[in-house]
Amino acid sequence: MPFWERIKEDFPIFHNLGENFTYLDSAATSQKPYSVINALSDFYSRHNSNVHRGIYRLSEEATDLYGRSRENVSRFIGSSDPRQIVFVRNTTEALNLLAYSLGHDLVEGDEILLTIMEHHSNIVPWQFLQEKGVRIKYADIREDGTLDMDDLASKISPRTKIVSVTHVSNVLGTINPVAEIGRIAHDNGSIFIVDGAQSVPHMPVDVGRIGCDFMAFSGHKMLGPTGIGCLYGRIDLLEKMRPFMGGGEMIREVYTDHSTWADVPEKFEAGTPDIAGAIGLSAAVDYLRNLGMENVRDHGRELMRITFSLESEAGIPGLISYGPRNPDIRGPVYAFNIGSIHPMSVEESLADRGVGLGTVVHPHDVASTLDGKGVAVRSGHHCAMPLTHRINAVATSRASYYIYNTPEDVRRLFHSLEHTVKVYSR
Ligand code: PMP
Repeated sequence: MPFWERIKEDFPIFHNLGENFTYLDSAATSQKPYSVINALSDFYSRHNSNVHRGIYRLSEEATDLYGRSRENVSRFIGSSDPRQIVFVRNTTEALNLLAYSLGHDLVEGDEILLTIMEHHSNIVPWQFLQEKGVRIKYADIREDGTLDMDDLASKISPRTKIVSVTHVSNVLGTINPVAEIGRIAHDNGSIFIVDGAQSVPHMPVDVGRIGCDFMAFSGHKMLGPTGIGCLYGRIDLLEKMRPFMGGGEMIREVYTDHSTWADVPEKFEAGTPDIAGAIGLSAAVDYLRNLGMENVRDHGRELMRITFSLESEAGIPGLISYGPRNPDIRGPVYAFNIGSIHPMSVEESLADRGVGLGTVVHPHDVASTLDGKGVAVRSGHHCAMPLTHRINAVATSRASYYIYNTPEDVRRLFHSLEHTVKVYSR
């Protein structure tokens, strides 16, 4: 029996919300299995105390559990040394840390190369550096939603100090060839950063094989609790970098006029960390490892295959979807529109040419009509406004799958979409 046929039993939310609840928003955040919820409860019930600070048994236990969680996460992404894992709040904080710390050494005229499919968390922190004259360039996408590698190669220059790309787009689902991009970046002497928010939860990820210098990801998208995320960084680079936040735990010595820093990773973990969160994330890693990340990836691919086949079978008038059609180069994310939602300028030019738009259902209306059928999808720009504009949309609806979704969930999506179009065609 494939694992997804019984997997919902491991997730109390499906039991509590009942048969008719279809959760298709895991790209925003995943549901949590009992083992993760129990790990949090167990920590607070039996081991709760602060790490590092106490010389008493309970604090040593907490410190030990926190350290073992770091080791577990490190192994999970193929890092050779647990000191290369810095616990942060989420992907956003990890990328802000990098922009702040690496950005300190950049000077006017230096360049940062991103892609047009980045999440705002891999755009806005770099934009802060524009104030000191740093330039940001964006590699474009091709019409099929894949990254235009020629454009990327043409935009890298001797001034490019940092190349930072998402591994998997949270809108198009595109899996980017990160190892190849890493080679281009390193041949150019640039630092190479990968946003792993949508890849680490869904496929085997090995930072050594990818050859990245840094990778950011969030625990809450991979069955873990909210409030815990990771920055992987090469130890030699982390050791050279300036700290991000100052305070307790990140120092060696503090004087009235200056301070010295603790070793990596503590240097980057100011204040009391999310101890329970790290332990919960470690339980999530155990759960995923037990399923096998190859199986997790295969299941996502299978759901995308079913999605494309139901999409053509259903023949919903005006339905357009975005991103590569090949499930082998795509994560389990399905963004779509009904009747296409263009910016006003495009709509006006279509109207001028006498092109009708058919039944247009705004993504927010799609999401709320689907919600009425018990199907939870997200609508909006998905924190990727430059990409949304690039694909000539003002917003999209997005269904995203994870290990607990079944082919039946995908069928429910398409039945509910058929219903939506009927409602809005009246
Ligand atoms: N990058 C990508 C590709 C994402 O999908 C997300 C979450 N939608 C983020 C970054 C930001 O993650 P977080 O909100 O957990 O910081």
